[in-house]
Amino acid sequence: MTRRTAASLLGWLTEHRLEMDLLLEELVLAESPSLEPDALGRAMQIIERELADVGYITRLLRGGVYGHHLYARPRDRSRHTGHQLLVGHVDTVWPRGSIAGMPFRHAGDELYGPGVYDMKSGLVEIVFAVRALAAVGLMPEVTPVVFVNADEEVGSVDSRRHLVRLARGAIRAFVLEGASGRRGKLKTARKGSGRFTLTAHGRAAHAGSSPEEGVSAILELAEQIRRLNTFNDPGRGITVNVGMVDGGLRSNVIAPVATAEIDVRVPTEVDARRVESAIRALRATLPGASIEVSGGFRRPPMEPSSANAALFRRAQELAELVGVHVEDAGLVGGSSDANLTSPYTPTLDGLGPVGDGAHAADERIVVSSLAERATLLALLMLEPVTPCSTVTASESHDRQMRSEVDEVFAVERSERTLLAARAPGEVVGRPESDEPDLEIPEIEVCSSGDS
Ligand SMILES: [Zn+2]
Repeated sequence: MTRRTAASLLGWLTEHRLEMDLLLEELVLAESPSLEPDALGRAMQIIERELADVGYITRLLRGGVYGHHLYARPRDRSRHTGHQLLVGHVDTVWPRGSIAGMPFRHAGDELYGPGVYDMKSGLVEIVFAVRALAAVGLMPEVTPVVFVNADEEVGSVDSRRHLVRLARGAIRAFVLEGASGRRGKLKTARKGSGRFTLTAHGRAAHAGSSPEEGVSAILELAEQIRRLNTFNDPGRGITVNVGMVDGGLRSNVIAPVATAEIDVRVPTEVDARRVESAIRALRATLPGASIEVSGGFRRPPMEPSSANAALFRRAQELAELVGVHVEDAGLVGGSSDANLTSPYTPTLDGLGPVGDGAHAADERIVVSSLAERATLLALLMLEPVTPCSTVTASESHDRQMRSEVDEVFAVERSERTLLAARAPGEVVGRPESDEPDLEIPEIEVCSSGDS
């Protein structure tokens, strides 16, 4: 990799900065909140159009209520060098109409708008990194495969099966979430996240005339919340937060039922198992009350690994060629799709632009970082097949993910059979496929070169 390659890529991208801004504007104006398939489809079409323009084959993968996901790969590719994953999401946390209150606008070197940082600018980077490589006549040795899901902000519930499959066969994965902090740090480790619901059941009774006949679910829940709070361990980076409670019927009725929504973040799988069993071991404290727990971990921790660290170090070297110094953000509290790919393939996240205010009204990016980061992404894509990094998903984790993935596919297969039997030819939206085109062999590629 030469300084000259970096300079020509950066030069091309800087020249095309206005086009990057325009594509970003188009994407931000196409508001695309999670769970609104029509809106998501419109935004996804933009990415699809852009990738098709640079000779990519695109395919929509059925996503049901979550909106369809996009899978794309170059029309021409080498079949023998494996693939590298470029991951982004098109959904945002912003309901449609948010654009009125937080319009797309420039202010100095900053650009504001719903989803601008999380992560429509990351999608722009993918498109322009691919375009820049084509423009300067460079073809990555490792086939880039783009996967854009429509349900990241709601836990990648539907798309995880595709992510895991694609990651399992990948040489490496780049996730285009925004960079961490104003210094544009990259992310190699993220906490795992779980969502649980604790429901307390009691018995309704008149609060004034016969309170002794009732059992308050709210009182039971209050005790459970106090216990849940003791599971917090700031020293280890474990957080357990009851963020929502609901319950009762009226103030003059002893509450028969009450629920708490719990968010859990953990740095390691061991912690995940420990906290989960502690939550499941909770027992009711009031005579006549009962409790039940549902939910689980949606994303495993992206634990620090030597494979991720090696990928980061290479990114750091390449960034220097662009004149940018990047650092490792260390353990990040929020989870992303990197949590799903990292157990299977070396993963680098936070490659999106520098910015701030994810999920906040002042969401913004630093415009000048867009061309730099797209250059870095393009340089990373050009990396040859690296010697085998040992990424072995822990057995228990892999077993869990495999069964989850198989289960989803099994359910879908049977649903499809039913649908086919009932309404032949009925197509909802325009999904072209249920599975990625996995002609790309799921091979383990090791160059025999230096290690
Ligand atoms: Zn995001």
